[in-house]
Amino acid sequence: MAREREFFDVPRKDVSYRPVDERLKDFCAVDIPLTDAEIHEQASRCMDCGTPFCHGSSTGCPLGNVIPEMNEAVYNGQWKEALDLLLSTNVFPEFTGRICPALCEGACVLGTIRPAVNICKIELAVIEEGYRRGYVHALPCGVRKPERVAVVGSGPAGLACAQVLNRSGYNVTVFEKDAKPGGLLRYGIPDFKLEKRVIDQRVDLMAQEGVDFQCNVNVGDDISYKYLHDRYDAIVLAGGASVPRDLAVPGRELGGIHFAMEFLTQQNREVCGEPEWGPDIDAAGKKVVVIGGGDTGSDCIGTARRQGATEVVQLEIMPKPPAERSESTPWPQWPLMLRESSSHKEGAVRRWNVDTTGFSGEGGVVKQVQCVEVEWAFDEAAGRLCPMRVDGSEFTVDADLVLIAMGFVAPTRNDLVEALGIAKDPRGFISRDERHMTSVEGVFVTGDMRNGASLVVRAIGDGMQTARNVMAHLSAKC
Ligand SMILES: Cc1cc2nc3c(=O)[nH]c(=O)nc-3n(C[C@H](O)[C@H](O)[C@H](O)COP(=O)(O)OP(=O)(O)OC[C@H]3O[C@@H](n4cnc5c(N)ncnc54)[C@H](O)[C@@H]3O)c2cc1C
Ligand code: SF4
Repeated sequence: MAREREFFDVPRKDVSYRPVDERLKDFCAVDIPLTDAEIHEQASRCMDCGTPFCHGSSTGCPLGNVIPEMNEAVYNGQWKEALDLLLSTNVFPEFTGRICPALCEGACVLGTIRPAVNICKIELAVIEEGYRRGYVHALPCGVRKPERVAVVGSGPAGLACAQVLNRSGYNVTVFEKDAKPGGLLRYGIPDFKLEKRVIDQRVDLMAQEGVDFQCNVNVGDDISYKYLHDRYDAIVLAGGASVPRDLAVPGRELGGIHFAMEFLTQQNREVCGEPEWGPDIDAAGKKVVVIGGGDTGSDCIGTARRQGATEVVQLEIMPKPPAERSESTPWPQWPLMLRESSSHKEGAVRRWNVDTTGFSGEGGVVKQVQCVEVEWAFDEAAGRLCPMRVDGSEFTVDADLVLIAMGFVAPTRNDLVEALGIAKDPRGFISRDERHMTSVEGVFVTGDMRNGASLVVRAIGDGMQTARNVMAHLSAKC
């Protein structure tokens, strides 16, 4: 190990963003990647600590990425070695390197005394260098197995599952109800975070390697379980969790109030050049209120700003997190702390501890959001902290467009699931056993459809594990 105390001397460097004025004129990626020299310097900060919590799947990376060794290889300029290590645990680092919140960095040992190693952007540099140098290319499978697997849904979980199965020689068909593969990567997450060319590049490779993508096919509607059962030896459900949480308050029926995904999908389809779809939602010249403080809400802010919103207010019912790691989430846990996305930096008023009590409007269209401040206090009856409305704290926010981004409460509806009577858990998500198999023999489930709305890195990890379980199941049947 050539490095000794770089972590003392070299500061962490994060990616910078294109200037706000410039980036608001387009939907292209906002990040300015670190240079090769900067990546080399950032890799030098890794302490190669004895017990790397960053790659422990319970505390750090859910995929178990082999991070210190990858950092060492990058530091030594061994890009091929770094890439091989990375791809041994993560089939799609070009997605995680761009949009993963970097759970690994929350568990980085250096993070106890200095800012953590910039693992996420080192990962991105490794895969991008791999593409540039031609190390990443189609690897057509030599020997094909006779078994066929149908994967229903092409989000990160379905794609990861298909990738592992196909590379292992199984014949994989991915059915997708939308026009193009990618799931939320394509139709939820905006291009300014993840350009669609990145998804196309990977999907093209998978197709060259033999994965059969059948888009515009709604399984359970266009094709039945019998159709799949007659043709495939296993079925993997990877349909995501797309049922949004609604806000049952007076005035909800007014025009101009939409779920975030209606808004984001419409814009993503426009950027992709796909035909118009759904209600025409346009933030241009409007006062926009986003209800919900998570990733989806943040993506609504960036999209609304690009469409020309005059002002954007984001309301969150939870308290404002502390600027530094909260004591409630000590290292190596993922730190609860205030985070500011590139979209927040583009201009939005963020308010915390705010509950929405109603909407009022004119001519059937929303004009104001009624709100009240809350305090979080322990509720004996509920046995947990609950928001308590503060008397006299009522206020209103002007709004021409309201976007509800309050999370997702149920798996994407699928008539096949209903027709087969596949068992669900108490939350309403699809149940599975330790083999990831549902209550119906040979039908598996993976990703958000089982786990509830989560993260891309978790969907990828779950999809990879489901693939291994499908292989074990099919091998046992032979
Ligand atoms: C706006 C938004 C922003 C996000 N940003 C981030 C982020 O920055 N970082 C991060 O880590 N996570 C983020 N997430 C979460 C992440 O996108 C999801 O956790 C992840 O995509 C789940 O993957 P999945 O494959 O399980 O499901 P999905 O990505 O939802 O994919 C499911 C796919 O199944 C298809 N499908 C459903 N039913 C059928 C059917 N009957 N027949 C055929 N196809 C079907 C759907 O059309 C879809 O393509 C974000 C989520 C949203 C909504
Ligand atoms: S996938 Fe996410 S958690 Fe895992 S190493 Fe990459 S950035 Fe970290």
